Amino acid sequence: MNNTLLPFLFSPAGTLSAALLWLIIGLCVGSFLNVVIHRIPIMMQRESENYLALEQDQPLVHSDRYNLILPRSACPACGHTLSFKEIIPIFSYFKLQRRCSNCSTTISYRYPLVEGATGLLSGLVVWMLGSEMAGLSALIFVWMLIAMTFIDIDTQTLPDDLTLPLLWLGLLINLNGVFVPLSDAVIGAAAGYLFLWMVFWVFRFITGKEGIGYGDFKLLAALGAWLGWMMLPLIVLLSSAIGAAIGLIMILFRGHQREHPIPFGPFLALAGLVALLAGKPLIELYLGYPL
Ligand SMILES: [Zn+2]
Repeated sequence: MNNTLLPFLFSPAGTLSAALLWLIIGLCVGSFLNVVIHRIPIMMQRESENYLALEQDQPLVHSDRYNLILPRSACPACGHTLSFKEIIPIFSYFKLQRRCSNCSTTISYRYPLVEGATGLLSGLVVWMLGSEMAGLSALIFVWMLIAMTFIDIDTQTLPDDLTLPLLWLGLLINLNGVFVPLSDAVIGAAAGYLFLWMVFWVFRFITGKEGIGYGDFKLLAALGAWLGWMMLPLIVLLSSAIGAAIGLIMILFRGHQREHPIPFGPFLALAGLVALLAGKPLIELYLGYPL
């Protein structure tokens, strides 16, 4: 690596050049997150189909290689393998005039949206937290939250393959108290899980329905592991408020059926992001005295 680039990569908070550099890196990470969002649910589906076949002594349903790297990215409509020029974040989308170069199928706006959001949030995180230990780990935190948000929107599932690593990672990061002391992180993880688990059973007892899923418990546990138990009330309040507002808007304006559940994971992720970047001042504002 170029020696002149290193100080930009690892800088204290408020360094504009570092924030811009990480914005560009974030665009590329966002491009990879699009792959993660598309493929992880398919990988899980294939795994469970293979497992079932194995259990029944049948030949495997899927024997071709399919992971986050292979096969190379292709148009979902016609299978045309994308060239390097077609996978440049955001740029390619507009250069191709939002259409596949082979079959002219419209490319979903989701791809540039995920890339742009990942780039902007990466720049913001580095601007606010720097790109040393805290900032770099916060980047991983935010990237995983973005992937989970869109997987939950697509499939109404938060995969264990993402929630559990996020939880372990939060505990490991806080071994040295990067965000909160380890004891706060451990209590945060347990309390986060337990709180939504209780809400789940009370809700089910009263209404006979399942309002939130087990993935949501694990995600709140992960947020507690990263940010400590003190952030849990803020995260729960924020996510419920945003969730209720968006749910209401969708029912009022888009005729969204009340029976059809709206995933809760995206609201938890958004509240987790707010808690990471502005949790302390928000809580101090509410309490009226410094923490
Ligand atoms: Zn195509």
